[in-house]
Amino acid sequence: MFAATIITLFPEAFPGTLGVSLIGKALREGAWSLDTVQLRDFGQGPHKNVDDTPAGGGAGMVLRADVAAAAIDSIPRNNRSLIYLSPRGKPLTQAMAAAWAAGPGVILFCGRFEGLDERVIEARDMQEVSVGDAVLAGGEAAALVLLEACVRLLPGVLGNEASTVEESFSDGLLEHPQYTRPREWEGRAIPEILLNGDHAKIEAWRKAERQRITAQRRPDLTRNGKRE
Ligand code: SAH
Repeated sequence: MFAATIITLFPEAFPGTLGVSLIGKALREGAWSLDTVQLRDFGQGPHKNVDDTPAGGGAGMVLRADVAAAAIDSIPRNNRSLIYLSPRGKPLTQAMAAAWAAGPGVILFCGRFEGLDERVIEARDMQEVSVGDAVLAGGEAAALVLLEACVRLLPGVLGNEASTVEESFSDGLLEHPQYTRPREWEGRAIPEILLNGDHAKIEAWRKAERQRITAQRRPDLTRNGKRE
């Protein structure tokens, strides 16, 4: 079973959006598991300090390597990937989510302040993953994004499994446009080809639209369907 363990100063951020809809139902039914480890519990001294000023000076605070390592080492690894959510990380892709979803789960470390002491990233061989080229205040929202991408791929979590096969990125392309009733809305009609029941023509139209939209919006995705 896919098991997620999250190290965070803000366990109240979870399950958050992972508690709603089909993913939340799957969580309550035990189809996957989520637990949090409070980083503060591993803090130093009477105040349970988890951070200190940056070596070399500068703004903000840095999470201590010894505190982070104590939290990490308290968690049974069970062959899971150990991930540090970080704006310096490898950008999250559908292929990465699919690989984690096929495995035993993930251990996620959520940073705060200026981030985490480099030595624990190296010493515990943490994989750095980013959810986009923008800086968040902490890793919690990024952890929710990563987990949501994984968990919706678990067998039986989404009602209609075909829906994860035909969507954006699954064939290296962005999705074709979608329409539903009414047939005409504010003078705009659904493309005629989608209404005549010729499935081969519909599939050809959708493929052409996927290629057109991907070339227009994300040319970086078109080479072998992979990010550069
Ligand atoms: N000073 C750091 C940013 C720290 S932001 C830098 O310039 O790289 C605080 C924490 O938020 C980080 O430790 C990380 O865990 C999380 N975070 C911020 N942006 C993120 C992103 N784009 N993807 C994943 N995690 C992010």
